[in-house]
Amino acid sequence: MYRLNRKIKELEPYKPISGSYKIRLDANESCFSLPKDMLDKIHTALNGIDFNRYPDPAAAKTVAAFADYYGLNAELVTAGNGSDELISVLMMAFLMKDDAVVTVVPDFSMYSFYAAICEGKCIDFKKNDDLSIDVDRLIDTVNSNNAAMLIFSNPCNPTSKGLTKQELRKIIKSVNSLVVLDEAYMDFWDESLLNEVDNYDNLIILRTASKAIGAASIRLGFAIANKTLTRALRAVKSPYNVNSVTQEIGRIIYQDKTYLENVKNKLICLRTGLYNELKRLEAEYPEYMQVFAGNSNFVFIKTGIAEKLYKYLLSESIAIRFMGDYIRITTGTESENEELLIALRRFFKTELI
Ligand SMILES: *Cc1c(COP(=O)(O)O)cnc(C)c1O
Repeated sequence: MYRLNRKIKELEPYKPISGSYKIRLDANESCFSLPKDMLDKIHTALNGIDFNRYPDPAAAKTVAAFADYYGLNAELVTAGNGSDELISVLMMAFLMKDDAVVTVVPDFSMYSFYAAICEGKCIDFKKNDDLSIDVDRLIDTVNSNNAAMLIFSNPCNPTSKGLTKQELRKIIKSVNSLVVLDEAYMDFWDESLLNEVDNYDNLIILRTASKAIGAASIRLGFAIANKTLTRALRAVKSPYNVNSVTQEIGRIIYQDKTYLENVKNKLICLRTGLYNELKRLEAEYPEYMQVFAGNSNFVFIKTGIAEKLYKYLLSESIAIRFMGDYIRITTGTESENEELLIALRRFFKTELI
């Protein structure tokens, strides 16, 4: 009789919030879909695809558009089927069985998930109570465990906080491991090391089209690293990992720099507005919530009534992310944020006993 092995026996398929909610603030997606003129361009481009042919394994045109937008050398960029796929490929290829992987908690849950499937040994480095990171202690943890990989998001999902370039440089130079720096939200901040990847022999940066770029649906992510690491990554990835439809759409989006700059600034502005309003609510109910300042498109809140709040908002058809003693709220449009705040105020007035 066939039995599932130990590492996958207890696993459950990933379940994002299901059901249809009027306002979705739970997955850190952009609240803006692509504009009409861009969609027209996309439709035209899709008509030109040879659907019977395999896609370009290098996704060269998409990579070129991405590299151009960020001012990078395209030879240092590898495209993936979402950065999620790249995380999984990195774990699979750059780890040997039982290699130590240091993750920083709380952080993106997929890191430890893939590390476990790849039979790595996950070491959880705890953040301070104020969610900051003790850089020296982190370096020490990586080196004393002889870790093969250090992986974390900057700014961090879910805390929205981040390390500065200076702190990052110190970490990368001081550890003996590979450093995978996930900059999924760096479009919203200004501490990117993208332009410095070539200075290090141990740095891989991840980027995604799923957040600021507003294209979570097409599954497109990128890994940026020096030539040696890039060659290794390109050698181990599945050859046709990014399909032709995604390649075409991605190319068109990244070519439209004006649109990307505008939408990014709009999202930052909306998040700032949401943060300010939540701070005002915190001032009224300080015993119930602690709102953290951050650098992303979402706001992270510590609250002893997380579950109650989450359920109440769901009953109002507003989805946010519930995480134990915390909630995470992605910025919506102006009107979505307004509706959220009205619902929150109503909750505090009527549901608190
Ligand atoms: C959303 C997110 C990603 C994005 O993954 P994709 O597979 O590109 O959609 C990666 N890392 C972090 C930390 C994220 O929050």
